[in-house]
Amino acid sequence: MIKDITYMHEHVTIDLSKEKNNIDCKLDSFEETKKEFLRLKELGVTRIVDVTNIGIGRNVDYVMKMEESTGLKIYMSTGYYKEPFLPKEVEELNVEKLAQKMIDDIRIGIDGKKKCATFIGEIGTGFKVITELEKKVFHAAAIAQKATGVFITTHTSLGKLGHEQLDFLENLKADLNKVILGHTALANNLDYIRSLLKRGVYIEFDTIGKDSYLPDEIRAQFIKELCDEGWSDKIIMSVDLTRKSHLKTNGGIGYAYLIENFLPMLRKIGVQEVFLEKILVENPKKILGVRSK
Ligand SMILES: [Zn+2]
Repeated sequence: MIKDITYMHEHVTIDLSKEKNNIDCKLDSFEETKKEFLRLKELGVTRIVDVTNIGIGRNVDYVMKMEESTGLKIYMSTGYYKEPFLPKEVEELNVEKLAQKMIDDIRIGIDGKKKCATFIGEIGTGFKVITELEKKVFHAAAIAQKATGVFITTHTSLGKLGHEQLDFLENLKADLNKVILGHTALANNLDYIRSLLKRGVYIEFDTIGKDSYLPDEIRAQFIKELCDEGWSDKIIMSVDLTRKSHLKTNGGIGYAYLIENFLPMLRKIGVQEVFLEKILVENPKKILGVRSK
């Protein structure tokens, strides 16, 4: 059994229900989530990265309560998601002020609480172009990254615009070694992932089990080939559950799916244990600055 696992892209609570006009997209099922997190603990998980940020239901009290009642360490995030989920303040404030908000979340604490943000993200883009407001968020994120040294974690829509995100951040002198690209496997193109990895970023396989986006067999094969080619230091994983119906009690795959279903799949096609340790344990700890025992 692998111990000391970190899930790198989750939403302990999130609310996209208004924009999506679907109440299922309000994930606020505290007791059910708690139950699943306790099960994760039994399966060797110790940390969760929550990438819910400003405007999509970030709730520091909720997360702190979850942390307290499960004993899992939960890291929180700052920044803004993507259009049409950006709150008014992204329009109203200038880039410097947006950056300062992120910096304050990282240095002082979120919403007046003593819990600080550890990540900038998930900041995102859509399918075709990065909009002006999204650029404003990425610009502020680059400033905040330079000031604080934290990682930026991004959302790509079905894997699109990965290079465009990196070009934009690179032009603003952001550190691409401290960038995690989300959802890029969904473009279903291994060469594309390789070309992104060559720019120094982490690639996150973070929608594991969402077969409607991409079958897990393909995800597993990508991971196997990338590990064999020497990229295991740059890969991380998560399930990215965002809906009530994703939880096990409601008929979804549940958080444990990654460990109970996907890991056996990886092992079956010959992904070595040493690579799994890197992806699930060592790489996240390096990103989080947690020392190995
Ligand atoms: Zn997400």
